[in-house]
Amino acid sequence: MIHIKTPEEIKIMSEGGHMLALIRDELASLAKPGITTKQLDDIAFKRIKAAGGEPSFLGHGGFPATICASVNEQIVHGIPGNQILQEGDIIGIDIGMKYKGFHNDTAVTVPVGQIDKNIQNLLDITKKSFYAGLKEVKNGVHLGDVQNAIQKVIESAKYGIVRELTGHGVGRELQEEPSIPNFGKKGTGYILKTGMVIAIEPMVTLGSPEINISQDGWTITTSDLSMSAHFEHTLAVTPSGAQILTQ
Ligand code: MG
Repeated sequence: MIHIKTPEEIKIMSEGGHMLALIRDELASLAKPGITTKQLDDIAFKRIKAAGGEPSFLGHGGFPATICASVNEQIVHGIPGNQILQEGDIIGIDIGMKYKGFHNDTAVTVPVGQIDKNIQNLLDITKKSFYAGLKEVKNGVHLGDVQNAIQKVIESAKYGIVRELTGHGVGRELQEEPSIPNFGKKGTGYILKTGMVIAIEPMVTLGSPEINISQDGWTITTSDLSMSAHFEHTLAVTPSGAQILTQ
């Protein structure tokens, strides 16, 4: 069942989402050569607590950290640890916060120092595919239209779309219905309604879109170890478009 949020609930979510966006952006700016992913995680935990929130991911299904820190070939769900970021890496920072009973979920992939042009293009296309999907969002539109717009951008760039992982509804639960693949057919799927809150999150690969789960049971990598990027916002459906909550 899809939960429709009241305007008051969306107001709370946008308040929490804005604070979470500031934390995400601070972490992104700290992702420089020499810092460990665990240091980023510690800062994330402190900032979420200071904002009056709770980390959504910590303990979720047993996940052991506040952020998912996914470096290079890691697509999502990387566990922060002693890995030191190096010049030329990319890092996906995925973070969720529960605030006044409601979650927000957002992710960005950023360069560490200078990166190759073709890897920068991967980041740009991933972001662009998100915004192509976002543009389709409004009351009355089929979810398949949103998914198809994302797919088109990624496929025209000849990158891989990770198919096993999807966007999702967000609210009192971190992951609610519906699930939102990053590919689909126009005119199919759920019809978006004002008050629905969803996370759209394309996961894109430079090479094969096939995935592997690492021995830690969490980290998902590309099977060919090619670079991968992830970009995500939580947004509310409105009569005229989408309201990004995590900004
Ligand atoms: Mg998500």
